[in-house]
Amino acid sequence: MSAVANPHAAHDAGALVIIGAGLAGWTTAREFRKLDTSTPIVLVTADGGDFYAKPTLSNACAQKRSAEQLVTTPAAKMAETLNVTLRAHSQVRSIDTQAQTLTLSASDGATHTQPYGQLVLATGAHPIRLPLQGDASADVQSINQLTDLAHFQRTLGAAPKTVLIMGAGLIGCEFANDLLLGGYRVHVVDPTERPLAALLPAAAGDQLGAALHALGVVWHFGATVQAVKHSAATAPLAVTLATGEVVGADLVLSAIGLRADTALASAAGIACERGVVVDDQLQTSAPYVFALGDCAQYASAGARTLPYVMPIMNAARALAATLTGTPTALVFPLMPVSIKTPALPTVVAAPHPAQPGAWVADALEAAAAQGGGVWRFMDPAGQQRGFVLTGGQTTRRMELAKATVL
Ligand SMILES: Cc1cc2nc3c(=O)[nH]c(=O)nc-3n(C[C@H](O)[C@H](O)[C@H](O)COP(=O)(O)OP(=O)(O)OC[C@H]3O[C@@H](n4cnc5c(N)ncnc54)[C@H](O)[C@@H]3O)c2cc1C
Repeated sequence: MSAVANPHAAHDAGALVIIGAGLAGWTTAREFRKLDTSTPIVLVTADGGDFYAKPTLSNACAQKRSAEQLVTTPAAKMAETLNVTLRAHSQVRSIDTQAQTLTLSASDGATHTQPYGQLVLATGAHPIRLPLQGDASADVQSINQLTDLAHFQRTLGAAPKTVLIMGAGLIGCEFANDLLLGGYRVHVVDPTERPLAALLPAAAGDQLGAALHALGVVWHFGATVQAVKHSAATAPLAVTLATGEVVGADLVLSAIGLRADTALASAAGIACERGVVVDDQLQTSAPYVFALGDCAQYASAGARTLPYVMPIMNAARALAATLTGTPTALVFPLMPVSIKTPALPTVVAAPHPAQPGAWVADALEAAAAQGGGVWRFMDPAGQQRGFVLTGGQTTRRMELAKATVL
């Protein structure tokens, strides 16, 4: 494959180049355009570039929506509205931070060199894959983009079918609820003792576990998946757990977590830890290179990744100001996350993992009588540092947010 000279090279030398057409990439382009209508923006993405809200992946089934129906704005319309040159179906292979260029493989197989004035990495995260035994282990699916959902829906076909979900975290619980509402049978396997064990106080996790069980989830706690095999007996798959139990399923969905996509940055010598390391202005260790979204590890969040929508909206606004000449430190507000489990709606404003303190339940019986619960994370000085609301109590989100100290 030979490198093809870019006819726009001179014009693009001062361009803002964004890698990734997820929420982080497109929101950065939108915020930038509010402040600067003339600097060229080039957005390079491995996918088609259609705009959609990724959270809708985990409630599409109940709403009987296909992957195509989740697209809210087609790629071409996004590019036209924001005056962006879109290079869709183009994989960025490498970044040269000295020369300020990227090398990308276009959909036609040609290799292009793309110069940049400023570069934004918005490469997202990819699902963690566990090495599993069995002749069907390669058939285990994950859903992190539109094409994954399309593949999943094609494979699954019409209900009733049985889906085994690996992982009882946020995404595993959302898919469990969604698939049940869509008419499927659902098993969930997790090594902990309850859903969302890392995020919720035990009593809240138990409430969610009971609500999803009442809807039909078969829980397998304290267990991990060891092998996935084709089977005539439990057709079409036999899933062997470390406990020795064998569960029959039509499809296995892995929801055990995401890992920030740092491959490109790392290969370019840009500092990466759990994500691409950025300072409070979203600058990476390389000049003129910035990062945000699921791929970033934010100094503003105490060196954490924050793989949610609200951090992206806040980061994109601050970044656009910095990119257009007003260096702006990103300060995250409190950003509660709504977990899309209609069986028990749940809102979480998690404290920083290093925050000392303990979860305290608000008069649990009274709250339960109103259908739900309230938990506050209290530090040793008696200040509220986080909260969890379930059921009918989720309407109190603003009140609890106001009482929380960051
Ligand atoms: C099922 C599900 C449900 C969710 N629900 C919620 C929710 O309810 N609330 C909430 O706050 N958050 C939720 N999230 C998280 C939220 O959706 C994500 O934090 C957010 O969408 C991530 O956006 P992003 O742009 O950083 O990454 P992505 O959307 O992953 O985009 C990454 C982009 O980078 C491109 N790319 C990567 N590498 C390259 C390369 N080398 N060359 C070219 N292009 C490249 C990809 O093609 C893609 O366009 C959910 C996530 C999932 C998976």
